[in-house]
Amino acid sequence: MNDERVFDVCVVGAGLIGLSVALALSRSMSGIRIVVVDKEDGVARHQSSHNSGVVHSGLYYRPGSLKSRLCAEGRREIYEMCAEYGVPASRTGKLVIATRESELSALSELERRGRAAGLTGLERIGPAEIREREPHATGIAALQVPEAGVADFPGLAREMSAVLQTEGVDVRTAWSLSSITHGPSRIVATNGDDAIEASVLVNCAGLHSDRVAAMAGVDSDIKIVPFRGEYYRLKDDAARLVNALIYPVPDPRFPFLGVHFTRRVDGSVEVGPNAVLALAREQYRNVRPNVHDMGEVIASRGFRRLALRHGVSGVSELVRSRSKRLYARQARRLVPAITHDSLIQGGVGVRAQAIARDGALVDDFVIERAGGTIHVLNAPSPGATASIAIGRHVARMAREML
Ligand SMILES: Cc1cc2nc3c(=O)[nH]c(=O)nc-3n(C[C@H](O)[C@H](O)[C@H](O)COP(=O)(O)OP(=O)(O)OC[C@H]3O[C@@H](n4cnc5c(N)ncnc54)[C@H](O)[C@@H]3O)c2cc1C
Repeated sequence: MNDERVFDVCVVGAGLIGLSVALALSRSMSGIRIVVVDKEDGVARHQSSHNSGVVHSGLYYRPGSLKSRLCAEGRREIYEMCAEYGVPASRTGKLVIATRESELSALSELERRGRAAGLTGLERIGPAEIREREPHATGIAALQVPEAGVADFPGLAREMSAVLQTEGVDVRTAWSLSSITHGPSRIVATNGDDAIEASVLVNCAGLHSDRVAAMAGVDSDIKIVPFRGEYYRLKDDAARLVNALIYPVPDPRFPFLGVHFTRRVDGSVEVGPNAVLALAREQYRNVRPNVHDMGEVIASRGFRRLALRHGVSGVSELVRSRSKRLYARQARRLVPAITHDSLIQGGVGVRAQAIARDGALVDDFVIERAGGTIHVLNAPSPGATASIAIGRHVARMAREML
């Protein structure tokens, strides 16, 4: 093979996590040869550009978990890197609002986790202070979280890609990994007739990470189940009802945060997303059920167990996703002035949510090593916030294997 096909590390997936792995490697080992491949014709075309754009504070995660640690580190770095590259980002702060007595203990637990995660400026406030910060929001108590904010994640990914190329990293788009074979000392990755050799292959394929792991011969406990997140936007005259970020207290049974309000870096206000089972992994509009994607989900033992456990709430999410009126009702619990007419259709994202064989939705980030390969098998939200820290964590593993 000629030199353009031989590398030390091949990263599959040019989303924020794959790009962050490459950046961390490039900056920690001089002379290292890295290629990042992605099947799309540009970087960050999936989760990294179809998300809420929120820099999460780290409030929600179990103290000591990878999510908690990497979110705290990553949050600081996202703000720093955005400032360095001139990418829009802002530490706007957010309110997590309890609207019912039954949510107060969960709100206290969030406060405890936030303090354990070292969040500064965390404050428990009452109805009058909620109105001072968000005059159109309502609730019986709230947690004020100053370190949360928003960032232009796709803009950051594009800058990272440009910087990587100036550092000599080969970023190859329109390169779709179709097979992985293990040679005596190297791994061969192919895209049809085109082949790349590398000492280490890092799988950051997001919604396809389980398939890439299977190509590498990894018998993982984990299967990706795609969950669609649909957003509405507030019309311009209703956008004034929201200053920054307004969240409900999440339902502890689910790894999703509930319908919330996000004032994004461009000033628009999004409502959502919901979480419904997706009929295809990477389709955003005019979705036609993908028989292969659906069949794989339904065939997995984990999904069948999940469906048994959450059947009723799963169905109610499906109803909400089709009914704007029900969606508005949900939003009105936090901001009562929202009406059906305040909402216009917004974006769509599809989450790569890992599910274990026993049907449990996997909560923490999962990164596994097998032979000469590393697999990022679960990196849902706050994966964008934590991406730079995840990249450094994976790069450390890769360096040990070179
Ligand atoms: C609706 C939604 C809302 C979210 N909100 C937030 C938020 O507010 N804050 C936050 O921190 N996080 C949020 N997240 C999570 C965050 O977006 C993800 O954790 C993060 O983007 C994951 O990055 P990634 O690089 O792993 O995946 P991706 O960005 O999906 O990248 C994976 C890449 O792999 C490529 N690929 C796949 N298969 C192949 C193959 N065979 N060959 C070559 N390339 C391949 C894909 O084309 C893709 O570019 C949200 C996610 C969603 C979906």
